[in-house]
Amino acid sequence: MPSEFSGKHVTVAGLGVSGVPAAKVLHGLGAHVTVVNDGADERARTQAAELEALGVTVRLGDGAASDSGSAAGLPEGTELIVTAPGWKPTKPLFAAAEQAGVPVWGDVELAWRLRGHGGRKAAPWLAVTGTNGKTTTVQMLASILDAAGLRTAAVGNIGVSLLDAVTGDTEYDVLAVELSSYQLHWAPSLRAHSAVVLNLAADHLDWHGSMEAYAADKGRVYEGNQVACVYNVADRATEDLVRAADVEEGCRAVGFTLGTPGPSQLGVVEGLLVDRAFVEDRHKNAQELAEVSDVNPPAPHNIANALAAAALARAYGVPAAAVRDGLRAFTPDAHRIAHVADVDGVAYVDDSKATNTHAAEASLAAYESIVWIAGGLAKGATFDELVAGAAKRLRGAVLIGADRALIREALTRHAPEVPVVDLDRTDTGAMPQAVQEARRLAEPGDTVLLAPACASMDMFTNYNKRGDAFAEAVRELGA
Ligand code: ADP
Repeated sequence: MPSEFSGKHVTVAGLGVSGVPAAKVLHGLGAHVTVVNDGADERARTQAAELEALGVTVRLGDGAASDSGSAAGLPEGTELIVTAPGWKPTKPLFAAAEQAGVPVWGDVELAWRLRGHGGRKAAPWLAVTGTNGKTTTVQMLASILDAAGLRTAAVGNIGVSLLDAVTGDTEYDVLAVELSSYQLHWAPSLRAHSAVVLNLAADHLDWHGSMEAYAADKGRVYEGNQVACVYNVADRATEDLVRAADVEEGCRAVGFTLGTPGPSQLGVVEGLLVDRAFVEDRHKNAQELAEVSDVNPPAPHNIANALAAAALARAYGVPAAAVRDGLRAFTPDAHRIAHVADVDGVAYVDDSKATNTHAAEASLAAYESIVWIAGGLAKGATFDELVAGAAKRLRGAVLIGADRALIREALTRHAPEVPVVDLDRTDTGAMPQAVQEARRLAEPGDTVLLAPACASMDMFTNYNKRGDAFAEAVRELGA
């Protein structure tokens, strides 16, 4: 079938999770596809062979992803670049594209443009972004939409490719879409039905260049929204992004809050999640959606995630009962405030996914008396604010990993009375020892919380492995 891509020369920048499907789809649509990829390891060679068998040109070890000026230029005749979202905008390849007037899209932009292709239904997108809580919120949202009887899926930055969702055989009524700041950067024409920026804290600044640039990319999610721009009442920056956005006529700003909601907000009243936005006469009326105890786990930041998901679902017209049923049916992914076990009256909780200080702050706020296991790779973060805010709730701290001295210094400054065990080892035996030390510090009623505020790669392959090591060590305590 002819398409706007027939005969077009498209360069796909980067193999991998987004590049391979993008190359296949574009090739299938009749484009002349050239893939450029810096690395030439075994995985890349296998992917390249698969694509070459289809007739796609692949240039491995191309130098296109390099940051230096010596990188390869645009492949001859390129009319469009489709880039892997992680590629930094400062790469020479993009400067060359700009100079030549060649547009650059990410995989999300391509997916957006292919909605409705081949006579499929063009399902609207409910979009979720933010520094923390995206995956949880998008999964809660999909669960709610599902409970309402809608054909839906949680897609995007959570491992399910948007391209597959829009070009595959399954038809959807509506999609729950998680978008990273990188993906938003490369998706200029995306227009969601409704969207939320959950929160905004410094992260990935090395990629975006500045906090302003990071915020601006997050704010793109609101551009052209049709029904609701959902923001976090407790995070002023998210509301500012709504104000700055150019939206469709009639699109509303809707806030979510852990406090009592005002008109056009969702919030909490006496243990209930309540909607004062999508009701008739919102100045007088409120609609009960669910009980706080329907949210799993009912930690404050997770209730905020549930309210954000509920707001998007309500914007789409989902009835209140489906919000409750969807939240009840939802179980969080592993390593996100996962209760591992109680041993001697002490709860052990794995929040290994708290890989930055903003996430750790939320999890530390969820418990009264905590023995905190923290540390790893700090990625340039500072810990003063985090430690000062949590000091009152700390029974003790056990520090692991490469950058633990930064946390220890913050503890010395802001919580000098809190006992600290500093584990001077980064081998695999460190986690069982950390858990044993935490047990020694804890008293009945306390929570031992793994919320490292750091990345894991100094000691573990990823945060999953770190959480697994913690859970394993806890199970050994109880054995
Ligand atoms: P993301 O997809 O944005 O990384 P996740 O839902 O996977 O978010 O949650 C990651 C971590 O962020 C959780 O383990 C928790 O520590 C923290 N977190 C989750 N929701 C929030 C929130 N609304 N505000 C702050 N921190 C949060």
